[in-house]
Amino acid sequence: MLQLKNLRKSYHVGDTVTKALDDVSISFRDREFVAILGPSGSGKTTMLNIIGGLDRYDSGDLVINGKSTKNFKETDWDAYRNNSVGFVFQSYNLISHLSIINNVELGMNLSGVSAKERHKRAIDALIEVGLKDHMHKNPNQLSGGQMQRVAIARAIANDPDILLCDEPTGALDTETSVQIMELIKKLSKDRLVIMVTHNPDLANEYANRIVNFQDGKILNDSDPFAETQEDNDFQLKRTKMSYWNAVKLSFTNIMTKKGRTLLTAFASSIGIISIAVVLAISNGFQKQIDTTMGKALAKYPIAITPSATDLTSANQRKLSTKNVKNRGYITAEKDANQQASHTNKITQSYVNYIKKINPEYANNVSYQRSVNLNLLSNNSGKIKRIQFSNSDPDSSTSALAMRSQALSTMGIGSSVFPTSLSKNKGSFLKQNYQLLAGNWPKKATDLVLVADNRNTVNINSLKNLGLSVKNNKKFKYADLINQKFALVKNNDYYQKIPTGIFVPKKVSQSMYDSATKLKLVAVIRPKNEDSMQLLSTGIAYSDQLSQLAIKLNRNSEVAKAQRKSSVNVLTGQNLAKNEKESILQALGASSIPTGIMIYPNDFDSKDKVLDYLDKWNDGKKKKDQIIYTDLSSAVTTMTGGLLGGITTILVAFAAISLITSMIMIGILTYTSVLERTKEIGVLKALGARKKDITRVFDAETFILGTFAGVLGIVIAYLLTFPINSLIYKLTDLANVAQLNPVHAISLIIISTILTLLGGHLPARLAAKKDAAIALRSE
Ligand code: ADP
Ligand code: MG
Repeated sequence: MLQLKNLRKSYHVGDTVTKALDDVSISFRDREFVAILGPSGSGKTTMLNIIGGLDRYDSGDLVINGKSTKNFKETDWDAYRNNSVGFVFQSYNLISHLSIINNVELGMNLSGVSAKERHKRAIDALIEVGLKDHMHKNPNQLSGGQMQRVAIARAIANDPDILLCDEPTGALDTETSVQIMELIKKLSKDRLVIMVTHNPDLANEYANRIVNFQDGKILNDSDPFAETQEDNDFQLKRTKMSYWNAVKLSFTNIMTKKGRTLLTAFASSIGIISIAVVLAISNGFQKQIDTTMGKALAKYPIAITPSATDLTSANQRKLSTKNVKNRGYITAEKDANQQASHTNKITQSYVNYIKKINPEYANNVSYQRSVNLNLLSNNSGKIKRIQFSNSDPDSSTSALAMRSQALSTMGIGSSVFPTSLSKNKGSFLKQNYQLLAGNWPKKATDLVLVADNRNTVNINSLKNLGLSVKNNKKFKYADLINQKFALVKNNDYYQKIPTGIFVPKKVSQSMYDSATKLKLVAVIRPKNEDSMQLLSTGIAYSDQLSQLAIKLNRNSEVAKAQRKSSVNVLTGQNLAKNEKESILQALGASSIPTGIMIYPNDFDSKDKVLDYLDKWNDGKKKKDQIIYTDLSSAVTTMTGGLLGGITTILVAFAAISLITSMIMIGILTYTSVLERTKEIGVLKALGARKKDITRVFDAETFILGTFAGVLGIVIAYLLTFPINSLIYKLTDLANVAQLNPVHAISLIIISTILTLLGGHLPARLAAKKDAAIALRSE
């Protein structure tokens, strides 16, 4: 059944060539006990390794059951070793981190025998060698003879046709040797046993046939066998180690060196820890920024001002920069701001469009109107002109000029508070402000005094009300609440002088008495400490008051005169470009607002509102489009970008330690490979493929990488507590560092993948190890 034909094998080391097998031809019977005798170095082990498929011959042929092995592939040899051959070595070669029973089962792991069947066969084999009671022990708890029995049990568990024993009693005393020989003799009843020995007495006593070896040649054969017929019935079952078995094998190995594993895992988890902590902190800061900004900026209005910067057109016209020097001319160009400046022509239909905004997205809209309020105060009979403005009343600038200046800088800090589109969503004032005194305004003629969150009010606005004020003067609420002011119609306020110019009349009690009365009903301040100042400090009033003033003055004499005139009817001077329109607005002759501010309900709604505003411009000519300014978006993206950048840099630094740990794992795996050379040899002798060996080591790094990842995340999580208390002490921000579960899981996966990568190369190296050399290594 087993036939060696003119086998030759030589080893080349440097220039020296050793002929280990020199034209060996021999045949073996299906069942016999053959002893190979010969001096050391005569090629006995080489022949056994070649017969067992652990080593390859140079020339000749090895014929198994009539089948030549000349065209065997690597996988055929793997299957042959696993199915047909059992090995017993002088040094037992048991795997020290596996229990006896697991050692015996190892070969069957590779041949896809079910766990139950595997266990049963292993126990049968242990019974056969008389070691059933020791099956849960570890190899180092057994005597030499017992270990050799385990090795024999492992070799026969898969019921191989050929049992190859390389000096099985070489390390045993005589008495134990005899017991082992008895055992092998018994096993040879069912199979071919080829045993190499140094001991001619044992050979003579137990073997049926003795072959003498010298210098790689057969000297003599006590019972030669001439192969009669070639019965080609050779079949092999492919071997394969499952991932699960690879993991189990690696796990038991890892468990034998817990301390070292823990240290390694900790070292390689440092990278994960630093990245996780950086992410947790930046995550937390981003959240803090988002909520703070969300609170402050969600309320930040979208402004539609008389003129806006059109960012889309700012960079539109780009002159070619090619060949500029040689052009021979220069080009006149508007500056970028001018190019981008867009005049918004707000029309009544646009105002109607704004009124239809979904109150779910933006409930509050405020309209900027430049209608001049002709105001009087009555300080115990002393009637004075006053204004609701923050500009210095002592400076000489006219009220009208200041109005237009105020308009151009319009944005945040308006003195007109927004109107609510839907009443049941709550009013703007109640949402953003708190009452210090008085009651919330109800009527168009109700005024409020707005303080900031330090309870201060712009000194000019108080001066403008006709109050006597010095810096830092304190006002009691009661002195302010219920103050009355008068809103005078243009017709009562102005008079036409013979030159055709309108000038304000002298103030009088009757002018005051006949005017509409306004009342200061409340003093308010922002609700949240950190919220944005949406209204400027001083007097604020509702749009209804502006509308009331327009209603009173639309058809006043001065308004009518200005409509017809081509000069400024208040000064008699010629009108500058666009000036007529603003004077008409100031006189209340026009009901169209000059500006609109829309307050989104929250951050997400803002996009919906912007979409709605964009829709208005669809299909409209450039000059008819309305361009809005959304300052809040500029602010958030800026800070968000900055934090993102810092985070990226920190993560990059932390990643370096991750790479370091990956290299470390590589080195560690390599050490493990060196340590486990024997085991690799044994696995190969049992029929493991290269792939299976790689798998075992990959499994080990997989376990290590996952463990390091999990350990890193746990440590990082624990670290967030002291970090948070430190940040709290430094900045008053609570719970900043928060580990995002998605980041945590991703980092564990990254750690696993990186360690797998780092360990894979040494694992491949392990797989390439020559089994024959591996097993010779001591
Ligand atoms: P035996 O088992 O009879 O003592 P071996 O088969 O181990 O002899 O060795 C036969 C010869 O081949 C010896 O000279 C040995 O030095 C040589 N040899 C065996 N393996 C190798 C190897 N991997 N590289 C180089 N020489 C080897
Ligand atoms: Mg030998």
